Amino acid sequence: MTTPTPHHSPNDTGWIEAICGCMFSGKTEELIRRVRRAHIAKQKVIVFKPQIDTRYSSDHIVSHSEQTHDSVSVKDAKNILEMVEDYHVVGIDEAQFFSQDIVDICDTLADKGKRVIIAGLDQDYRGKPFEPVPQLLAIAEYITKTLAICMVCGNPADRTQRISESQERVLVGAKDHYEARCRKCFKPPDESS
Ligand code: ZN
Repeated sequence: MTTPTPHHSPNDTGWIEAICGCMFSGKTEELIRRVRRAHIAKQKVIVFKPQIDTRYSSDHIVSHSEQTHDSVSVKDAKNILEMVEDYHVVGIDEAQFFSQDIVDICDTLADKGKRVIIAGLDQDYRGKPFEPVPQLLAIAEYITKTLAICMVCGNPADRTQRISESQERVLVGAKDHYEARCRKCFKPPDESS
Protein backbone atom coordinates (compact mmCIF):
# COMPACT_ATOMS: atom_id res chain seq x y z
CA MET A 1 0.00 0.00 0.00
CA THR A 2 1.45 3.36 -0.95
CA THR A 3 0.37 6.88 -0.18
CA PRO A 4 -1.19 8.49 -3.24
CA THR A 5 1.02 11.19 -4.68
CA PRO A 6 0.02 14.05 -6.93
CA HIS A 7 0.87 13.74 -10.63
CA HIS A 8 0.99 17.44 -11.33
CA SER A 9 1.07 20.72 -9.51
CA PRO A 10 -2.54 21.53 -8.62
CA ASN A 11 -2.09 25.23 -8.04
CA ASP A 12 1.28 26.37 -9.27
CA THR A 13 2.99 25.31 -6.08
CA GLY A 14 5.82 22.99 -5.17
CA TRP A 15 5.85 20.20 -2.63
CA ILE A 16 8.04 17.51 -1.07
CA GLU A 17 7.54 13.76 -1.43
CA ALA A 18 9.68 11.66 0.93
CA ILE A 19 10.34 7.96 0.35
CA CYS A 20 11.88 6.24 3.37
CA GLY A 21 12.60 2.73 4.55
CA CYS A 22 15.36 0.20 5.17
CA MET A 23 17.79 -1.21 2.65
CA PHE A 24 16.35 -3.54 -0.01
CA SER A 25 12.87 -1.99 0.40
CA GLY A 26 12.79 -0.42 -3.08
CA LYS A 27 13.28 3.28 -2.24
CA THR A 28 15.44 4.04 -5.27
CA GLU A 29 13.17 1.93 -7.47
CA GLU A 30 10.20 4.03 -6.34
CA LEU A 31 12.13 7.26 -6.92
CA ILE A 32 13.04 6.09 -10.45
CA ARG A 33 9.42 5.12 -11.13
CA ARG A 34 8.20 8.60 -10.21
CA VAL A 35 10.83 10.51 -12.18
CA ARG A 36 10.25 8.35 -15.26
CA ARG A 37 6.56 9.16 -15.15
CA ALA A 38 7.40 12.86 -14.96
CA HIS A 39 9.63 12.40 -18.04
CA ILE A 40 6.72 10.81 -19.88
CA ALA A 41 4.68 13.91 -19.06
CA LYS A 42 7.50 15.97 -20.63
CA GLN A 43 8.44 17.60 -17.36
CA LYS A 44 12.09 18.50 -16.92
CA VAL A 45 13.68 16.23 -14.33
CA ILE A 46 17.06 16.27 -12.60
CA VAL A 47 18.26 13.73 -10.03
CA PHE A 48 21.02 14.24 -7.47
CA LYS A 49 22.94 11.93 -5.21
CA PRO A 50 25.70 12.60 -2.67
CA GLN A 51 29.22 12.02 -3.91
CA ILE A 52 29.91 9.51 -1.13
CA ASP A 53 27.84 6.89 -2.88
CA THR A 54 30.06 5.39 -5.58
CA ARG A 55 28.61 1.93 -5.76
CA TYR A 56 27.89 0.59 -9.24
CA SER A 57 28.04 3.91 -11.10
CA SER A 58 29.12 7.50 -10.58
CA ASP A 59 26.61 9.27 -12.80
CA HIS A 60 23.50 7.16 -12.32
CA ILE A 61 21.35 6.14 -9.44
CA VAL A 62 20.89 2.38 -9.44
CA SER A 63 18.31 0.39 -7.54
CA HIS A 64 19.08 -3.06 -6.14
CA SER A 65 16.82 -4.35 -8.89
CA GLU A 66 19.26 -2.74 -11.37
CA GLN A 67 17.02 0.00 -12.66
CA THR A 68 19.00 3.12 -13.41
CA HIS A 69 18.50 6.82 -13.99
CA ASP A 70 20.97 9.60 -14.84
CA SER A 71 22.06 11.57 -11.83
CA VAL A 72 24.39 14.37 -10.83
CA SER A 73 26.76 13.70 -7.92
CA VAL A 74 27.15 16.62 -5.53
CA LYS A 75 29.63 17.03 -2.71
CA ASP A 76 27.56 19.52 -0.78
CA ALA A 77 23.77 19.80 -0.57
CA LYS A 78 24.10 23.53 -1.29
CA ASN A 79 25.33 22.73 -4.83
CA ILE A 80 21.82 21.53 -5.69
CA LEU A 81 20.39 25.06 -5.54
CA GLU A 82 22.75 26.24 -8.30
CA MET A 83 21.61 23.59 -10.77
CA VAL A 84 17.83 23.38 -10.60
CA GLU A 85 16.57 26.57 -12.19
CA ASP A 86 15.29 24.98 -15.43
CA TYR A 87 13.74 21.90 -13.86
CA HIS A 88 10.21 21.10 -12.69
CA VAL A 89 11.06 17.96 -10.76
CA VAL A 90 14.07 17.46 -8.47
CA GLY A 91 14.88 13.91 -7.36
CA ILE A 92 17.36 13.25 -4.56
CA ASP A 93 18.59 9.79 -3.56
CA GLU A 94 20.50 8.62 -0.46
CA ALA A 95 19.26 11.55 1.64
CA GLN A 96 20.91 10.12 4.77
CA PHE A 97 24.36 10.90 3.37
CA PHE A 98 23.66 14.64 3.03
CA SER A 99 24.26 17.18 5.79
CA GLN A 100 21.38 18.71 7.72
CA ASP A 101 21.36 21.56 5.12
CA ILE A 102 19.37 19.30 2.81
CA VAL A 103 16.23 19.97 4.90
CA ASP A 104 16.24 23.73 4.26
CA ILE A 105 17.26 23.16 0.65
CA CYS A 106 14.25 20.90 0.00
CA ASP A 107 12.03 23.53 1.63
CA THR A 108 13.51 26.26 -0.58
CA LEU A 109 13.03 24.15 -3.73
CA ALA A 110 9.39 23.45 -2.88
CA ASP A 111 8.85 27.16 -2.13
CA LYS A 112 10.22 27.92 -5.61
CA GLY A 113 7.51 25.68 -7.09
CA LYS A 114 9.55 22.50 -7.62
CA ARG A 115 8.26 18.99 -7.03
CA VAL A 116 10.92 17.47 -4.77
CA ILE A 117 11.14 13.67 -4.49
CA ILE A 118 13.68 12.60 -1.88
CA ALA A 119 14.53 9.04 -0.84
CA GLY A 120 16.63 7.82 2.08
CA LEU A 121 17.20 5.43 4.95
CA ASP A 122 15.13 6.40 7.97
CA GLN A 123 17.04 4.20 10.45
CA ASP A 124 20.75 3.49 10.76
CA TYR A 125 22.27 0.05 11.42
CA ARG A 126 21.52 0.43 15.14
CA GLY A 127 17.83 1.00 14.42
CA LYS A 128 18.12 4.70 15.38
CA PRO A 129 16.57 7.57 13.36
CA PHE A 130 19.06 8.55 10.66
CA GLU A 131 19.32 12.34 10.35
CA PRO A 132 18.42 14.27 8.33
CA VAL A 133 15.65 11.90 7.19
CA PRO A 134 13.40 12.37 10.29
CA GLN A 135 13.47 16.14 9.73
CA LEU A 136 12.65 15.66 6.03
CA LEU A 137 9.65 13.51 6.95
CA ALA A 138 8.40 16.31 9.20
CA ILE A 139 8.34 18.90 6.40
CA ALA A 140 7.23 16.63 3.52
CA GLU A 141 3.66 16.84 2.22
CA TYR A 142 3.69 13.18 1.13
CA ILE A 143 5.47 10.27 2.81
CA THR A 144 5.88 6.72 1.53
CA LYS A 145 7.49 4.13 3.80
CA THR A 146 8.70 1.19 1.76
CA LEU A 147 9.08 -2.19 3.48
CA ALA A 148 11.44 -4.99 2.57
CA ILE A 149 11.01 -8.68 3.40
CA CYS A 150 12.87 -9.99 6.43
CA MET A 151 15.71 -12.16 5.21
CA VAL A 152 15.38 -14.37 8.32
CA CYS A 153 11.64 -14.99 8.70
CA GLY A 154 9.87 -13.43 5.73
CA ASN A 155 7.86 -10.85 7.70
CA PRO A 156 7.63 -7.25 6.46
CA ALA A 157 10.95 -5.63 7.35
CA ASP A 158 11.82 -2.00 8.17
CA ARG A 159 15.27 -2.38 9.71
CA THR A 160 18.74 -2.78 8.25
CA GLN A 161 20.91 -5.39 9.96
CA ARG A 162 24.63 -4.91 9.47
CA ILE A 163 26.22 -8.34 9.15
CA SER A 164 29.84 -7.14 9.04
CA GLU A 165 31.86 -5.95 12.05
CA SER A 166 32.32 -2.28 11.15
CA GLN A 167 31.26 0.38 13.70
CA GLU A 168 31.12 3.20 11.11
CA ARG A 169 27.69 4.76 10.81
CA VAL A 170 28.19 5.18 7.09
CA LEU A 171 29.34 2.02 5.35
CA VAL A 172 28.51 2.23 1.68
CA GLY A 173 27.79 -1.09 0.13
CA ALA A 174 25.14 -3.60 -0.46
CA LYS A 175 24.36 -7.22 -0.10
CA ASP A 176 27.62 -8.29 1.54
CA HIS A 177 27.24 -5.98 4.54
CA TYR A 178 23.52 -5.74 5.21
CA GLU A 179 20.25 -7.63 5.47
CA ALA A 180 16.67 -6.40 5.77
CA ARG A 181 15.17 -7.57 9.08
CA CYS A 182 11.82 -7.27 10.85
CA ARG A 183 11.48 -5.94 14.41
CA LYS A 184 11.62 -9.47 15.81
CA CYS A 185 14.75 -10.59 13.97
CA PHE A 186 16.71 -7.31 14.14
CA LYS A 187 19.59 -7.49 16.64
CA PRO A 188 21.02 -4.09 17.57
CA PRO A 189 24.82 -4.14 17.68
CA ASP A 190 26.40 -4.08 21.14
CA GLU A 191 26.85 -0.38 21.80
CA SER A 192 29.23 -0.88 24.76
CA SER A 193 32.05 -1.99 22.47
ZN1 ZN B 1 12.06 -11.47 10.78
